[in-house]
Amino acid sequence: MKTAAVVLAGGSGKRMHADVPKQYMTLCGHPLLYYSLRAFEDSFIDEIVLVTAAGEEEHCREMIVERYGFDKVRAIVPGGKERYHSVMHGVKAVSTDTDYIFIHDGARPFITQEILKRVLGDVQEKKACVVGMPVKDTIKIADEDGFVADTPKRALVWQVQTPQVFAAELIRRAYGMLEKEEAELLARGVEITDDAMIVELLTKQPVYLTQGSYENIKITTPEDMGYAEWQMAERLEK
Ligand code: C5P
Repeated sequence: MKTAAVVLAGGSGKRMHADVPKQYMTLCGHPLLYYSLRAFEDSFIDEIVLVTAAGEEEHCREMIVERYGFDKVRAIVPGGKERYHSVMHGVKAVSTDTDYIFIHDGARPFITQEILKRVLGDVQEKKACVVGMPVKDTIKIADEDGFVADTPKRALVWQVQTPQVFAAELIRRAYGMLEKEEAELLARGVEITDDAMIVELLTKQPVYLTQGSYENIKITTPEDMGYAEWQMAERLEK
């Protein structure tokens, strides 16, 4: 069995309001992106495809891949306008003999070996898995005027994280279909915010929810960085 990870660092990180793109900001002495690459490098994963913003490939190779000796990085490819374009470029660069593809946000530094092993076990059985956690707060669905339209049963509402993991044949097929149907989906007002959605919308494959952890947060805003410094310092001390 062969596995690959597509690690995404092609976003502009506008919500961070910083001069440096967030994936290169320093967290406990290393660039933010270091931590997710380290987790995959130290895992059962056979190869890594790193997706950066167009034009940053060489910078990323020198400053992160070569500096830390991440030998599993097979390719560094330019990302696209939306996250799903970046994923598409990444998936195309994965070796053709790969069985399972793990798609992960480079801005989630708290991914653990335990979660990676759990989702590997699940995907071999279910073909499509998304790591996430049940929500702690009650969630309301609003109508266009800002009034509550519905209150879903809390136990059934999950917040999704990454990695999102798929049989390679399935995710290649889904993204192939997306390339053909993108214009029509956008015209219908569909907002594509994760990989599982593409599988849900364009294939009949059910997507399984694998338990992640509440710590596996995505660093998005300056407050997240403060929390991550504290959380990572604790983890490194252990
Ligand atoms: O923007 P958001 O925080 O949802 O991005 C999640 C991940 O996807 C980040 O690691 C970001 O670098 C990546 N991304 C990307 N290409 C884009 C947008 C986001 O690789 N066009």
